[in-house]
Amino acid sequence: VSFGYSEVSPAEKTEKVGEVFARVARRYDIMNDAMSGGMHRLWKDRFVARVKPRAGESILDMAGGTGDIAFRMHKHGAAVTVSDINPSMLEVGQQRAEKRGLEGLEWSVQNAETLSFADKSFDAYTIAFGIRNVTHIDQALAEAHRVLKRGGRFFCLEFSTTVWPGFKDIYDAYSHKVVPKLGKVIADDEVSYRYLIESIRRFPDMERFKAMIAVAGFVQVKAEPILGGLVAIHSGWKI
Ligand code: SAM
Repeated sequence: VSFGYSEVSPAEKTEKVGEVFARVARRYDIMNDAMSGGMHRLWKDRFVARVKPRAGESILDMAGGTGDIAFRMHKHGAAVTVSDINPSMLEVGQQRAEKRGLEGLEWSVQNAETLSFADKSFDAYTIAFGIRNVTHIDQALAEAHRVLKRGGRFFCLEFSTTVWPGFKDIYDAYSHKVVPKLGKVIADDEVSYRYLIESIRRFPDMERFKAMIAVAGFVQVKAEPILGGLVAIHSGWKI
């Protein structure tokens, strides 16, 4: 299992990812704006437009962190459970929800690989910029499938591999040179941001990830590339 530039055991990876997000939680939202030039907000808007949350639906936002996706879905009247392995991220999320006067969100510490929810609990499962941090992606996908009702939908927003040739080079240079420096200046944490970039580089491309989603039992699996696939929205249905 990889962690940044080193190989570690699966248990160590889960622990180190935990450390990364505990360290960056307070500065997490500022860093997202800085690193993406604010673009992550548009990607998240587009993602939620695809999910089409409706009033009365119950939705699990996995690896929900500080709540960006959950807040957007809550606006549509869905009953959202925000789950994350990291209590510090959820704590920041709860404070943000309070500040915005958002009520009725559920917050639950969970490992995506071993959810405590009953089978067929949710109408939709979302995971944004979370699945690449999970140690056993296949287990997380199997759990997503298990907790969804029949007719439920799976949506994942994640960095992927852009197929725009020139753009890929620019992005590689940016991510390896600029992002760790931004991490150092804004969050005083270069190491965590090196890990995040490395985890993006190692994540399966759109075709491979689609295949993994299908193996977990989802049908009509699709990938919608953004910026040539720099970011992608993967989706599938449980029947
Ligand atoms: N979804 C939020 C967003 O888009 O802003 C947060 C994304 S943040 C980059 C990744 C999140 O994944 C972190 O909050 C981290 O704690 C969480 N995470 C990492 N491994 C996890 C796991 N095994 N189970 C659940 N959450 C996990």
